[in-house]
Amino acid sequence: MVYLVSACLLGVNTRYDGNENLYEDICNHPHGVLLVPVCPEQLGGLPTPRPPVEISGGSGLDIWEGTVEGTAAALQKDGTDVTENFLAGAQETLKIARLVGAEGAILKTGSPSCGKGYIRNGTFQKKWKRGDGVTVSLLEKEGIKVYTEENLPWS
Ligand code: SF4
Repeated sequence: MVYLVSACLLGVNTRYDGNENLYEDICNHPHGVLLVPVCPEQLGGLPTPRPPVEISGGSGLDIWEGTVEGTAAALQKDGTDVTENFLAGAQETLKIARLVGAEGAILKTGSPSCGKGYIRNGTFQKKWKRGDGVTVSLLEKEGIKVYTEENLPWS
């Protein structure tokens, strides 16, 4: 079985601040599981390190669907709009999922790209709101099941 995994969860320094989020339970996966690391934000052309981003005006799904009056966007704290990078990174991640025949994806909670269920609320005040990140929304729309480090497919 093949799963995409947020590269930062495997110890790769892809995080916005140049660090990682190593989660050893993922590395200790059952025999026969193949993990493919991906970082949607890097795949979308953003550098590392990079300014943190939050989704304002809605969720990742709202960005794809243009709902909430089309105001949902992925913004840096200074207002720089990196929505196009987030959309491109999600599409590249989907492409890789199909190339490798991924059963699903294990993505990092809380991230504006990889977060499932809750994300930062767009105020840069460490507050949360319900919703999925941009990549999670696309993968699930396309039928690829998304897990998190808190809900592994083999646990
Ligand atoms: Fe990790 Fe996803 Fe953020 Fe990349 S975009 S650093 S893989 S949480």
